Amino acid sequence: MSIDRPHAAQAQRLTVLSGPSGVGKGSVKALIQEYYPWVWLSVSCTTRKPRPGEVDGADYHFVSTEQFESMIAAGEFLEWASYAGNLYGTPRGPVDAQLRAGLPALLEIELQGARQVRRAMPEAQLVFLAPPSWDELVRRLTGRGTEDAATIERRLEAARAELDAEAEFDHTVTNVSIEQAASELVELMGSLAASAMLASRK
Ligand code: 5GP
Repeated sequence: MSIDRPHAAQAQRLTVLSGPSGVGKGSVKALIQEYYPWVWLSVSCTTRKPRPGEVDGADYHFVSTEQFESMIAAGEFLEWASYAGNLYGTPRGPVDAQLRAGLPALLEIELQGARQVRRAMPEAQLVFLAPPSWDELVRRLTGRGTEDAATIERRLEAARAELDAEAEFDHTVTNVSIEQAASELVELMGSLAASAMLASRK
């Protein structure tokens, strides 16, 4: 164990945004990057190929499976998960540095990763992004209409289990609009930073 990992009060400044597949976490993150550029967002590593327009080092660090596996072996991830056939992970170093400097940090990750952060840093603030309704989530998950009935049923079953995870989270933000969800999330991060600062003055 490194001696300069963030301590509990610093880890309080970590916010994790997670939630079911298809709820719009990526859109909320993109909006925050554009309209709240002062919010520090972790850049994940992934083995998935870049989509058109994605920039290496800004959207993700795009790495090979071999590179990713050697980072796992070296303990370089705060959390990592296999999702839809690819590996995703949060590099530990930049998050630790941000928190040690007393500054807030935001991760946007899927549920398995959020649970690992909960175990590694119990003081972190976990925010669940919820769909406005079950029907809306179904619409988003089945929207493209290109999958067969069995695939859709599997996806909906997974979504039901993912919605149950809400109870494990500290806060819920409902994605009625991405603008509103982003502003609620930034507000939660701000009030957290303020209360941590006040606590440190006592
Ligand atoms: P996409 O491939 O669409 O960018 O992301 C797929 C999923 O991976 C999303 O649910 C996103 O939240 C999640 N994800 C992105 N980065 C990370 C990460 O570092 N760790 C984990 N556990 N999930 C991630």
